[in-house]
Amino acid sequence: MGRWIEVGDRAWARRHAELDLTLGLVVGDRACLVIDTGADEGQGAAFAAAVRELTDLPWSVVLTHAHFDHCFGTAAFGECPVWAHPGCRADLAATGEAQRSAWVEHYRQKGDSEAADRLARARVVLPDRPVETTAEIDLGGRLVRLAHPGPGHTGHDLVVHVPDSGLVFAGDLVEQGAPPSFGDAFPLAWPSALDRLLDFAEPTDRADRLEPTELAELAELAELAELADRAEPAGRADLADRADLTDRGDRAELVEAAYRVYRAELAEPRTVVPGHGEPVDAAFVAAQRAELAEVAGLCRAFAAGELTRAEALARSPYPEPFISDALARPVSS
Ligand SMILES: [Zn+2]
Repeated sequence: MGRWIEVGDRAWARRHAELDLTLGLVVGDRACLVIDTGADEGQGAAFAAAVRELTDLPWSVVLTHAHFDHCFGTAAFGECPVWAHPGCRADLAATGEAQRSAWVEHYRQKGDSEAADRLARARVVLPDRPVETTAEIDLGGRLVRLAHPGPGHTGHDLVVHVPDSGLVFAGDLVEQGAPPSFGDAFPLAWPSALDRLLDFAEPTDRADRLEPTELAELAELAELAELADRAEPAGRADLADRADLTDRGDRAELVEAAYRVYRAELAEPRTVVPGHGEPVDAAFVAAQRAELAEVAGLCRAFAAGELTRAEALARSPYPEPFISDALARPVSS
């Protein structure tokens, strides 16, 4: 039904054969965050059980967007906070039943009546924690950021940034193993959304709260933090041993802060978990961004009458029907 891939410190991607779907989990000291819930309650329940193999901590859910395969499993997680962009809630309320009937039909035609029946039964749960631009969730000892990087795969994509691990769960803004999907996309804006995703490197709030002298000490620890980064968790203990802060009562805390600050500072995402396919690195995202910029150029030229459909298809980095979907989308967001 699925398999876990560890993608960072107490962070996992859950891979599924069906639709090549990838869900996520980030665990803190007091709570965990479930990223997307699967295509129906059966898949959601299996995912919830898999989460319970890794942690007993209370969960909240974040939905990356309103496509059924990412959110029709939410009911399996019971009463809990469900974070999403307000546009996700609106879209789910408006299109949930249409998505259901289209995909039930798809599965019936494929002869997969079991998947069709499960989807037909799934209860749609509307998110109750709106995130217009950004939000932080404190999982206990670790902050996770939710951010809407602008329109892209949909008008309401939300990404999950885990600064202390240089990790981003991208939803369908990034796609591995198949071309990006343009059915509800904003092709002209999508490259900028990936720029923002690749930009997740601002200092943490923790750094803002430190005194300048502390920051100077932290700077001296940068090299050690990098060492720790390469060899955790052993390197992390090594960092604590080697940091020359023995006169400070809060040495351990400062070392921990150094570790977190420098992890965050280096946090151009080193691992990006797509909504479908295997985890990728920032270089993969940059390459996909370049292809999406090509598509944006074709959409712009086609809308302006400078290219025929056939010319746009011939120049597209992606095959049919992906490029036709893109050409059919609005050129403004
Ligand atoms: Zn999608």
